[in-house]
Amino acid sequence: MSAQNQVVVGLQWGDEGKGKIVDLLARSAAIVARFQGGNNAGHTLVVEGKKTVLHLIPSGILHPGARCVIGNGVVIDPEVLCQELDALAAEGVDVTPTRLAISTNAHVILPYHRLLDSCRESARGSSKIGTTGRGIGPTYEDKAARRGLRVAEFLSADTRRARIEALLVDKNRQISEWFGQAPLSIDEVEAWAAPLAERLSAFAADTPGLLHAANAAGDRILFEGAQGTFLDLDHGTYPFVTSSTTLAGGACAGTGVGPRDLHNIIGVAKAYTTRVGAGPFPTGIGGEAEEYLRQLGGEFGATTGRPRRCGWFDAPLVKRAVLLNSVTHLALTKLDILSEHDELKLCVAYEDDAVPGSHQPQVPVYETLPGWKQDIRGARSWDALPQACRDYITRIEELVGAPVALVSVGPGRNEVISRDPIFEGLAG
Ligand code: GDP
Repeated sequence: MSAQNQVVVGLQWGDEGKGKIVDLLARSAAIVARFQGGNNAGHTLVVEGKKTVLHLIPSGILHPGARCVIGNGVVIDPEVLCQELDALAAEGVDVTPTRLAISTNAHVILPYHRLLDSCRESARGSSKIGTTGRGIGPTYEDKAARRGLRVAEFLSADTRRARIEALLVDKNRQISEWFGQAPLSIDEVEAWAAPLAERLSAFAADTPGLLHAANAAGDRILFEGAQGTFLDLDHGTYPFVTSSTTLAGGACAGTGVGPRDLHNIIGVAKAYTTRVGAGPFPTGIGGEAEEYLRQLGGEFGATTGRPRRCGWFDAPLVKRAVLLNSVTHLALTKLDILSEHDELKLCVAYEDDAVPGSHQPQVPVYETLPGWKQDIRGARSWDALPQACRDYITRIEELVGAPVALVSVGPGRNEVISRDPIFEGLAG
């Protein structure tokens, strides 16, 4: 009998507060696995008042009982991974290979990926996609084009040198001829790669095998999604998307665990909407009211510090996300940020029934609800929430078609209200 495995995914454009929800659920998980993305993700965790930002290592690392897996679907910048290991060590978290396993099939971000990413993004001028310039997109491109370098090859000194040397021919042509930058030499890439490979070799593993064994032993696996549903390569607001599958289904391809072994799908949505970077954003507020919400919510990117666009809760968008991910439970975050508003707008539909996330113009139809105008950060039960706040949540449940199982009323671990047994014992 396998345990009830859980998948946590974002239902908007990322930054929904997934880190906190993963952190809560990791308490009862044996393994926390990442399945896509790279160090363009940025989870901010606040534990005992201390803030930790993780970009690559699953947030489960802060729970000594959980083993963390970086799955085959992730792209790994070995330098960033080593920096994160150092940062965690400095905080007293000793990450040994028994705590962290890296898939031998994951792809490696190399210096030319980073360089080409930033060169291309600046060459796009005013039509920037909004990438973080960390080489994620170019690495996924190489993976799909079958000219990428996997962790197993990176770790073997002979294979690594020969493969990178061959790959550099084409990359250097792009770097120098297209972008006028100095080409990279194999010796300089090797000098960068060798010590990183040596340090990381102990962490490499057959992660699908490891996950299957855990599953067979009845150990719970928690799959940690990064970014959000509408940044998905297929179902997001293309081309303003990321290069991987961010949906719950991506947990299968990105770890090698089959779909029957994903049980509870927890969709995380912010009580309003934010988006960093370019692309459609139907419920954007604009002007001073948007700036007010941005300041209240501290809506600046964890990875890049970029200000996020802020808007009202977009129910058609989240409803679509519920369907795309087979969401079983919703976690609604940052309700406390709305406590100062006199009234709240809620997008209940789009004019002409436009398809969310599509290229059809999406003109929101709003309903206005009264605000609750009181601090809710101390609330630890459904009944302790003001009626207007409960009405806002209930209306969201009706509109998006999934139950709000967890209400988050502050950044801290204990600032939550659980409404479902899957979160029991975790909240409060
Ligand atoms: P992620 O990438 O989805 O994990 O999102 P972020 O790391 O950007 O997290 C969002 C931010 O919101 C972090 O700074 C969290 O500490 C914070 N946060 C999460 N839940 C809540 C909440 O309910 N209320 C408040 N005020 N902040 C929250």
